Parts: sequence; structure tokens; C-alpha cells
Amino acid sequence: MKLKVCGMKYNPQEVAALQPDYLGFIFWGKSPRSFDGEIPGLPENTKKVGVFVDAPPNEIIAKIDKYGLQAVQLHGNESPEFCKALKQHYAQKPVKIIKVFSIKADFDFGLLDPYENSCDYFLFDTKGKLPGGNGYTFDWKVLQNYPATKPYFLSGGIGLEEVESLREFMSRPEAKYCHAIDVNSRFEIEPGLKEIEKLKRFKEKLMKNEMNVTPSLGKRSANSLYHANEKGYYGEFGGAFIPEMLYPNTEELRQNYIRIMEEPSFKQEFDQLLKDYVGRPTPMYFADRLSKKYGAKIYLKREDLCHTGAHKVNNTIGQILMAKKLGKKRIIAETGAGQHGVATATVCALMGIECVIYMGEIDIARQAPNVARMKMLGAKVRPALSGSRTLKDATNEAIRDWINNPVDTHYIIGSVVGPHPYPDMVARFQSVISEEIKWQLKEKEGRENPDYVVACVGGGSNAAGAYYHYLDDGDVGIIAVEAAGKGIDSGESAATSALGEVGIIHGSKTLLMQTQDGQITEPYSISAGLDYPGVGPMHAHLFRSGRGEFISITDDEAMTAGLEVAQLEGIIPAIETSHAFAIFDYREFKQDDIVVINLSGRGDKDLQTYIDYFKL
Ligand SMILES: *Cc1c(COP(=O)(O)O)cnc(C)c1O
Repeated sequence: MKLKVCGMKYNPQEVAALQPDYLGFIFWGKSPRSFDGEIPGLPENTKKVGVFVDAPPNEIIAKIDKYGLQAVQLHGNESPEFCKALKQHYAQKPVKIIKVFSIKADFDFGLLDPYENSCDYFLFDTKGKLPGGNGYTFDWKVLQNYPATKPYFLSGGIGLEEVESLREFMSRPEAKYCHAIDVNSRFEIEPGLKEIEKLKRFKEKLMKNEMNVTPSLGKRSANSLYHANEKGYYGEFGGAFIPEMLYPNTEELRQNYIRIMEEPSFKQEFDQLLKDYVGRPTPMYFADRLSKKYGAKIYLKREDLCHTGAHKVNNTIGQILMAKKLGKKRIIAETGAGQHGVATATVCALMGIECVIYMGEIDIARQAPNVARMKMLGAKVRPALSGSRTLKDATNEAIRDWINNPVDTHYIIGSVVGPHPYPDMVARFQSVISEEIKWQLKEKEGRENPDYVVACVGGGSNAAGAYYHYLDDGDVGIIAVEAAGKGIDSGESAATSALGEVGIIHGSKTLLMQTQDGQITEPYSISAGLDYPGVGPMHAHLFRSGRGEFISITDDEAMTAGLEVAQLEGIIPAIETSHAFAIFDYREFKQDDIVVINLSGRGDKDLQTYIDYFKL
């Protein structure tokens, strides 16, 4: 949601320092906020709007030229032809036209029709004595009848006290085309003198507000090159390669998942839980010492501060709500290291739903603390006794269970893997990560896009979430970090992009490590979460298309980097995440490059491994 602050007079420079998206200057002699000074230099992303009331065209044009206005807001009875003529006058360097309509209790939206093709935005204000600056709101419910798709500014008496009702408004369908919130008199000490602290608080609330209330759950452009298409393909990868008997289960999910995610009640509940239970938004922290050492502006997206210690819970919260909407009474999941098992058991406890976790017998022995956690949370942990008794055998058991219980059971997959629609659904749930990065970076750096986003890739869910809203933005470099284990050529690694070939795993066509006759190779990494023989289809496509840069990091490099982050920043990362930090020894960045690292999880669970490795 964009912010416009109108009625600049005495302290525009201070207001500009808050970097609103628009600053409004009123050129109307009768207004107490009428502007006739010099406009100070503004931040790059702040646009100058001139406000006029039935002014003659030559006057408007003179002001546009004198002040370099990027938009004009017309508050009088300007006709559609008038707007159109003004627009055409500036065909070369376009000036946006904002036409104002004042609303009392009711409004005839038919009045908008003739303006549809002659202005760029509408602005809805409260009808009062003066054009604007009256200090009270109109009933926004009127906008339920908004018939158009033209973006509009919401204006009229909005102050700090309106934050809650704005929050409610923004979760409604009619807010879809709301482009910006316009504020003025409620943030003033006297007409034209703005209260900076109050504006600052409003801006912060507005940004958080929007993100918290209407998570976009993976909004994207229709012709994206890097998101899944409706069959679940990312380029040549993805799809649903499943046994016939599984078809009804995945089909039920495929037919419903987007519709359910778009229901306002679903978004509301998802958002509320992410906020109150998970602790979102997670901070984005500028890592000063790390930045100095490596000569770039390094930010850490703190998914380690999520409840349960990693990003995985974003997905399990989403899926448990999905299961409830589908009327499911029972949850199954598979887990290797136990992290996904814990995140699943957690949300099942939260909702009071039966939970069965499949886990290889060997893994149960290796991951005793997580097994204990799952049991304490009330889940049943069932050992997989066949094959190598690790993750892939647990997956087979879970699939068998699902085939036998298609009606009442939902299978929560823990990463952007598995048959369509899982990779896309999980990516959408995790996309809250990049959604937050965008506004947090805007707050800190004045722009939404970093130069690079970096994440470690096991199956690829934390990475998918961190990349999601940047996939189609070519100015954002995408860096994926894989586990090279004891070295790419050692025979003991999980470097899927470097070593993988096209094949099918867990119902999805992707890159995976396999022998010449197509047997899946047992992967190895010191970090349990990266120890996976494939990657999700999104990542296979990012690799093959060249959109993503893939780097493989060994156990030793990751451990050293993890120790360094602990001692430079006071943060002990999960060993998975430590792989991402190791790229600074591989990859040069420019001094002013903004590099966001997704700090996927905390290292408490890995303490014993760190102790053994460093003999602490
Ligand atoms: C599970 C896990 C990973 C790997 O899973 P992705 O799906 O690739 O994100 C990475 N980091 C942490 C902390 C994990 O728990």
C-alpha cells in the first residue's frame, strides 16, 4: 500500500525524509495550505503531486513545468475532456492524472465512467465544506459498489486512529484496487505544519498492517517465467507423476488449493496465526560486522526467530488450515531429521488434530531429541523398517498410508517437492518471507529490491519463499547454496544441481542424484536438512534456465562460516543456513550491493554437531 502525504507547506523536507510515495502540494489560493515556496530535493522514489481546483490549463502546465510535478490531482469540476487534454499535452514525459470524487453517504459510481479513459487514478475524498482537508472520513463501505478496476487513492480524514479500520478495510475485496492512502489534516500541528513522529508511526503501521492482514499468498503475474503454470510445471520440471491410486487425493487438493487460499477467512486466520503464534513479521537485521568484513551491505532475514526455530512452520500452519477447510480429520507427514515432523506435530497440537509421523528407523535413533519433541506434542512416530530405513523409506510409508486413507487424511509435505500442487502451494505459504523483505527493505533502504537474495537449498522451501516475489525481477540476483558434503567428487554429497540428472522423485520431475541405471543415490551432508537427493522443480528450473546462480559448499566450509557468524553477530545459525554464509569466500560483491541472506533456522538443534566438530 502506498502512502501520500498532502498539504505540504512549512516542513516538506522533514516529511520527505520519511520517504512517502507521494507528496502533495496544493496550488489553490483559498486553501490554508496553499503552497508557493521552493520544493526541496526529494528522495528518488517520492513523486510530487500538484493539487488544483478548477485552475485554467495554462496555470497547471506552468506549475508542472516549474516544479517538475509527476502527477496532478484535480479537485474541482474538471471534465473528462479537460483531463484528457492535459494528459495528451504530456504525452512525451507522462504526467499522471488523479481525478477526485467527493463522497458523502452515497455515491453514484456511474459518474466515473466518462473518466475511465482520461485519468490514471481516482481519489475518493469526504465531501465537506472545502475540497479536502476536512478531517473526517466517509463510510468506506460505499466502495463495495466500486465497479471499476482503476486504482484509487483513499482519502478524507484518515489519522492514526483509523489504523484498525484500515486493517479491516484492506482485507476486503473492494480494497483490491486501493493504490494508496492519502493523509493530511489529521497529522498536523496547524494547517500545513506536519507532525513528523505521528506520520512516521502511521507509515510503519500501514506497512505492517497491509502485510499482516492480506498476505498475498503468492500473488504473481500471469505470464511469469519462473512460477508454476496451472499444471504445476516450472519450465520442463514439476508435474504430478503419481500412482493411479493417489490421483483422487492430489486431485482434490489441486482443484481447491488456490480457491481456499484466496478466501478472506483463510487469509485472515493464516495471517493471525503467523502474527500471534509464529511471531511474524520476523526482523530483517543489518549485519554490520559481517558487512564490514565482506564489503557489502548484508541483511539477515531472521526466520530463525519463528516459533519452533525455523521457517518450516510457515508451511505447516498453512497446510493445517488447508486440511481443516477440506474437512480432514487426520494428518500424516514424513520426516528425515525430524524438523518437519516437529513443525507438523506442533500445528496438530495447536488444532487438536490426530498426527502420525513416519520416520526411518535409523533416523529415529539418530534424532532422538526431535523424536521426543514430537511425542511430547502428542504425535505418533511410526518407524519405517524397510530399505535403508531413512527419509525415502519414510516417504514410501506415508504415501502408502495416504492411499489407504484418502478421505479423512491430509499429507503435509515439508518442502517445495512432491507432486503438483505441493511445490506451488508450499512456495505460496513461504512467500510471506519475500513479501516482508520487500517492505522491510523499503523502510531501511528506500527500495524493495536487493541486489541479491541468498538461501540454502535442501528441498528448497526457505529459498522459494525468499525468492518468490523477486523471481521475475531481473535486477535481483538469485543465489542458491547446496551442500557439497565432503566435496562434490567425494561420492558423499547432496549437490543436486552439480551432480543431478533429470528424473522423477516423490511424484515430481526434477533434478536428482542417481546412478547410471536411475537408482536414487543416498545423499550426504553434515546438515540433516540439506541431506536430500533432489531439489524442488522450481529450483531445477532456476538452475537450468540460468536465472539462479548455484554454489556448492562443503561441510568444512559451512561449519567455519557458522562459527564466524556466531562470533561476528551473536547469532548461532542452523548448519543448513551456515552453508549460505559460506558464499562470501567464493563470491565477490560490490561495496554498495545489498545482499539479503535468508537465515532459515537457529543452531540450537545442531549444538552437538558443532561441539563435536570444533571440540568446544
Ligand atoms: C529443513 C531446513 C532447511 C532445508 O529445507 P528447505 O525446504 O530447503 O528450506 C533449511 N534450513 C533449515 C533451518 C531447516 O530446518
